[in-house]
Amino acid sequence: MPPATESDDLSALEALRREVETCTRCDLHATRTRAVFGEGDPRARLMFVGEAPGYHEDQQGRPFVGAAGKLLEELLGAIGLTREQVFIANVLKSRPPNNRDPQPGEIEACQPYLWRQIALIKPRVICTLGNFATKLLSGDPVTGITKVHGRPQRHELGGHVATLFPIFHPAAALYTPAMLTTLREDFARLPALLADESVAEAAPELAGAPADAQLTAPALPLTAAEPVVAPSAAELGPPPATEPVAAPSAAEQLGLF
Ligand code: SF4
Repeated sequence: MPPATESDDLSALEALRREVETCTRCDLHATRTRAVFGEGDPRARLMFVGEAPGYHEDQQGRPFVGAAGKLLEELLGAIGLTREQVFIANVLKSRPPNNRDPQPGEIEACQPYLWRQIALIKPRVICTLGNFATKLLSGDPVTGITKVHGRPQRHELGGHVATLFPIFHPAAALYTPAMLTTLREDFARLPALLADESVAEAAPELAGAPADAQLTAPALPLTAAEPVVAPSAAELGPPPATEPVAAPSAAEQLGLF
């Protein structure tokens, strides 16, 4: 079978969008207003993965349109990018009621969409925003974002090799000046990571993985024994600053997407 062309990938991504918009795989379909597939350049070198849609995203069907989205756009502008030049998605495509933590069953039902998005977009760098996406995509349900932010890791995700770059969630940084400073510093490292040719060279070796396998065999399955833990104030913990700064609550982190 010949390798998929760029046109094939674009068509597949659109088909996946339509599938998500009518998805009923988990109970969240019953309470959402609109599913949020994600948006941006389908050939983006940089992809962001957050946790789940919030109120505004659910209303508009677009990711990161609230205050956190504005901050994300500002951070992108500082490195010479616009949101149209990247791809922005979430682990869950439908909003949990009242922005509650995603449940393991919801993640299990929804994560194949994310692996497929990654396989089709083939980003060079995947920025995970906050604890939740970081723990899922790194396959490490224990180590929190405070420890791993700003540390690039190489992973195979959706059959595609990319650099995973965990950073604080913009919604959390909105409340904590020291965290915002760290977020800006981590963001400033993105241009160098995007220029790293070694990732692009490694990717084709795995690009021929069957699409079905990418959908049905997520790289990092969740199990009851190893649930991905939603972000907590404790895990966000004190930012790496000399002054003690109060960590935001989980509700604060999740309420301003
Ligand atoms: S959260 Fe994901 S699996 Fe659940 S209904 Fe929405 S799109 Fe489907």
